[in-house]
Amino acid sequence: MFGECHAHIIMNGKNYKEAVSLHRNGVCEEAVRKNFRDWQQAGVTFIRDGGDALGVSARAREIAPEYGIDYRTPVFAIHKKGHYGGIVGHAFGDRMEYRELVLHARREGADFIKIMISGLMEFDQYGVLSEAGLSGEEIREMIEVAHDMGMKVMAHGNGDGPARAAILAEVDTLEHGNYLEKDTLDMLADSRTIWVPTLAPTGNLLGCGRYPDQQIQKILRRQMECVRYVFDRGGRLGLGSDAGAYLVPHGQGLLDEYAWMKQAVGPEHVSELDRRLEESENWIKKEMKHP
Ligand SMILES: [Zn+2]
Repeated sequence: MFGECHAHIIMNGKNYKEAVSLHRNGVCEEAVRKNFRDWQQAGVTFIRDGGDALGVSARAREIAPEYGIDYRTPVFAIHKKGHYGGIVGHAFGDRMEYRELVLHARREGADFIKIMISGLMEFDQYGVLSEAGLSGEEIREMIEVAHDMGMKVMAHGNGDGPARAAILAEVDTLEHGNYLEKDTLDMLADSRTIWVPTLAPTGNLLGCGRYPDQQIQKILRRQMECVRYVFDRGGRLGLGSDAGAYLVPHGQGLLDEYAWMKQAVGPEHVSELDRRLEESENWIKKEMKHP
């Protein structure tokens, strides 16, 4: 069984606010344990979380070995004030504050640095993001600073501009990466960056009734075509489902992600896909670990 390279143990796949509120007055260990049990049942033994602002993933890392799980966390994610990311981490205003947060995360035992460089997907309309994201210059600096401190970087990035800047700055893993253009996909395929395209949070929405299926279908099809393109050009791909996101359960979400990924590359390429996913997972296991 593959590892889960993009999860949110603080979320429950159903209702974000409800899930988070459980931990408002200290980490609710039972909620954490329930998620570990779900992963254990699915045979998942490696998890990389995206972090949170309430210390849930930090506590989870302590509990994980009881479930035979190797669990990694950035402790919290880092975002720029006034931009998306408050739900999963802490904000910086200027570069000094950013440095402080990276140092803080490292002191807290972060396995890597998670940065938010763009907005969220608006699932009711194809092509739309909740915001444009940070400038290329800011993104480059954020990645450089973390690398200079000996930390690997996981970047939440949708939209062509932010993703392109991150790839140019040699980000270690690019998460989501919806709406990339051909030039950027070429650059991605030629780079060392591992792309975790998270197909499940889109694909699993089909038929749920919350968003128009036609728009979901378009978003999903585009992302699958991009995955196929990067795959065909020998790029590095990672398997991460965004477990905890709406309709992406812990455990099952990873199986869903794998199914979407296989569909994207085509059934005739599954053994090569497996090889590539395993290689990426091994790299993450080896490199995205507290220094
Ligand atoms: Zn996520």
